[in-house]
Amino acid sequence: MTQHKMPLLDQIVNLFAVVIPFLATIAAIVLFWNQIVTPLDLALFLGMYMLTTFGITIGFHRLLTHRSFQTFKPIEYFLAIAGSMAVEGPVNTWVADHRKHHAHTDEEGDPHSPHVGHGGGIKGVLKGLFHAHIGWTFTDHGKAEQEKYAKDLYEDRGMRFISDFFVLWVVLGLLIPAGIGYLVTGTLAGAASGFLWGGLVRVFFVHHVTFSINSVCHFLGTRRFEVDDYSTNVFWLALPSMGEAWHHNHHAFPRSANHGLKKWELDPSAWVITAMEKTGLARNVVRISPERQEQKLMKSHGSEPSTQAGPGSGVPASPTRNVVSRQTEPGPPVT
Ligand SMILES: [Zn+2]
Ligand SMILES: [Zn+2]
Repeated sequence: MTQHKMPLLDQIVNLFAVVIPFLATIAAIVLFWNQIVTPLDLALFLGMYMLTTFGITIGFHRLLTHRSFQTFKPIEYFLAIAGSMAVEGPVNTWVADHRKHHAHTDEEGDPHSPHVGHGGGIKGVLKGLFHAHIGWTFTDHGKAEQEKYAKDLYEDRGMRFISDFFVLWVVLGLLIPAGIGYLVTGTLAGAASGFLWGGLVRVFFVHHVTFSINSVCHFLGTRRFEVDDYSTNVFWLALPSMGEAWHHNHHAFPRSANHGLKKWELDPSAWVITAMEKTGLARNVVRISPERQEQKLMKSHGSEPSTQAGPGSGVPASPTRNVVSRQTEPGPPVT
């Protein structure tokens, strides 16, 4: 894969965005171990975790990247701001990168495939996983391609404002839990504790859970549909990722608002979209009929357990390019 170096300043900023939450999380574990943590800290962690993860999964991903449903503009902007607080880059860049990921999944041009251009052997596997998880955020990706891959957002003045003022939302996402901590306890220690748990520690967990969709969910897990890539479903990541870990289902049906397609495939983001639909906040929600799902099942897939994927798993030793068509779904412009 062609990787261009980003400017040094951007690299330093990204490094801080990754390293500071990591160091803060170590500090938080020490505090937790010594029972210096309050129910308020944990509530701020959970509340901010849900707000910002849903901002990514429902906002950046299902709504803005794939247009799985429609909603009112103020709700689009609210979700875009909530997603920006997850510190995964400006909304327009995120959407451009992710559409490019779907257009070139696990081949040249994919911004974060663990499988392309990392060499062979165990070293290549580890290099690929590192790149897919976090290394790709230090390369020059997406930026020049907003106008190509995210033209709809680029031309929306409100969305461009939200995207351009990314840093503002990051700071707001750190100040909100600190402010609530101060208001509830009336002390600066309460503010600092809210900043730590609802801010930095939350960023650390949101980062590594959502980055795992790029690395783990293209490497280990189960598969059942005929898709032209290595995407997988990973059940143990389903709840923390708010349903995004049914990533193989998602690559099979990119526009589906539901990533969990079976009853037991827990998908909290889909539950929220259904609730929005019932209250009139979401419309034209894209869902895939059981018949269409049936048609796309792997030929070999019967009542046997799902196929395992990924290097080392045995199945598909040669790419699971057991098929034919890449993204046959109608969808937003991906080229
Ligand atoms: Zn993917
Ligand atoms: Zn997607």
